[in-house]
Amino acid sequence: MDFKQYVTIVEDYPKEGIRFKDITTLMQDGPAYKAAIQALGEYAADLDADLIVGPEARGFVVGCPLAVEMGKGFIPVRKAGKLPREVLSVDYGLEYGKDSLTIHKDSITKGQKVLITDDLLATGGTIEATIKMVEELGGVVVGIAFLIELSYLNGRDRLKNYNTFSLMTY
Ligand code: AMP
Repeated sequence: MDFKQYVTIVEDYPKEGIRFKDITTLMQDGPAYKAAIQALGEYAADLDADLIVGPEARGFVVGCPLAVEMGKGFIPVRKAGKLPREVLSVDYGLEYGKDSLTIHKDSITKGQKVLITDDLLATGGTIEATIKMVEELGGVVVGIAFLIELSYLNGRDRLKNYNTFSLMTY
């Protein structure tokens, strides 16, 4: 399937110079959304992951259906102040901004194999922060799956020690 035809490119959003990849048009097409998640499932099939971890909000859009498809648990990574119990927190930089991410401290047991998911790899800051949190909790990152990779931002350089897959590359 040509997945790119379902992604809408929005120029200068959320600020000038950013070519925003809008995946809501992929999500609203049932067969395309399902095929995209299944394609990530094929990548994940050999990784033997125990858990899926994804950052809000679009990491949930990818990670949750994938977790259900694989029969695995899903652990949310959220912006500061959103998770109700004790969290581990990490600061990170975005293609357009700065923030901090949190994860429940008791969500991963030492040695558990983790597949990280997100909609899009840009600079890699979000995923680097997510990896840091997973590893600090004792998890082993066995794979990282994206719908989209912006190869011109070289985010993959920051992930070179990890098994990484993206369905679409721009
Ligand atoms: P980064 O931490 O730079 O890899 O950015 C990752 C997150 O920012 C992704 O999960 C996207 O949700 C969002 N993002 C960054 N750049 C874009 C873009 N050009 N189009 C759509 N989403 C983006």
